[in-house]
Amino acid sequence: MNTFVEVQKLYREYYNFAIKNNILEIPEGIEYREFGYGYLKKVDNRNLSFKNEGEYKDWVLKNAPMHFYKSLAYMLYPNKSGGAAKKGIFRRELAFDIDVHKTKKCKHDEDWICKNCLEEAKNQAIYLIEEFLIPDFGLNEEDLKIVFSGNRGYHIYIKPKDENIRDIIEKFSKEDRRFLMDYIMGKNLYLESVGSGWRRRLIKEFKKAGIGIKQFEKEKNWKKIIEKRKNKDKIYNIIEKTKNKLELDEKVMDDDIRLLRVINSLHGYTGFVVKPLNGLDELKRFNPLKDAIFKEFENKVYEVNIFDDRKFEIEICGKKYNNKSKKITGSALLYLFGHNIKFELLQ
Ligand SMILES: [Zn+2]
Repeated sequence: MNTFVEVQKLYREYYNFAIKNNILEIPEGIEYREFGYGYLKKVDNRNLSFKNEGEYKDWVLKNAPMHFYKSLAYMLYPNKSGGAAKKGIFRRELAFDIDVHKTKKCKHDEDWICKNCLEEAKNQAIYLIEEFLIPDFGLNEEDLKIVFSGNRGYHIYIKPKDENIRDIIEKFSKEDRRFLMDYIMGKNLYLESVGSGWRRRLIKEFKKAGIGIKQFEKEKNWKKIIEKRKNKDKIYNIIEKTKNKLELDEKVMDDDIRLLRVINSLHGYTGFVVKPLNGLDELKRFNPLKDAIFKEFENKVYEVNIFDDRKFEIEICGKKYNNKSKKITGSALLYLFGHNIKFELLQ
């Protein structure tokens, strides 16, 4: 049995389901969006565009891509190559991309995933929302679209319910978007004059570390206070750590022609669904190793011979797989194939 043919079959089956059940994202203003896709590489092709929803769906059913992206930007000439200058960009969605590395607790290589790093990605997404987007940017939960990236991350779109506000932010310049990013990364934090958001955030961290906070609550010029403290190195350290808590892909906010995965497509490395979540509650309960799996794949079982030297382990829908596994489900097949594990399908 040819593995790639079988993988393609599973992707096709999924896209049939997703289109029939109307869950595959149809990006708004579809005729102004650029699309990109890939099979064995992430993006083999871009500068693809569709006149309408029908053409888009037909293409997806026919091609069943392993990686599938749309532009955040709306463009007059989405299929022109040659970069942002040629495309006539007139509007752009705003989204943050949290994409974490493996954690200290992880026992695997950088390109693998486990409970620990998936948990870290989720905690960072919650932190971004609860520490920045809601209190500092004044957004409501309903103004956010939270999407699991399909791998070790989350995409958080800012989609204000108020059309006027949405109009304003989707016409932000690159510099405006950069400013949002810099704020979150603490790049425009001046200790001589600390604003309310960062003051709240840092005082919380100081408290946890047992640092006296009375002066910090009263005074705006923190530099003056810190320089007089004996533990100033420790304090500066906490500030730096707090600034670096989030692993954000800056290009997703920055780059004019950045592509982001289509919601409810599949991620070619994992075979997991790029899954939209209903608010913070669902995010907090979300377990990608179970909830981002297309359940039909779990009903398919393959006999395999795995002959890869690397020792690995992955748990999908409560079932563990490793080098010695003889039977795997469709979801494990897609994960192992996406991670270049060497195996053959028997029968
Ligand atoms: Zn891990």
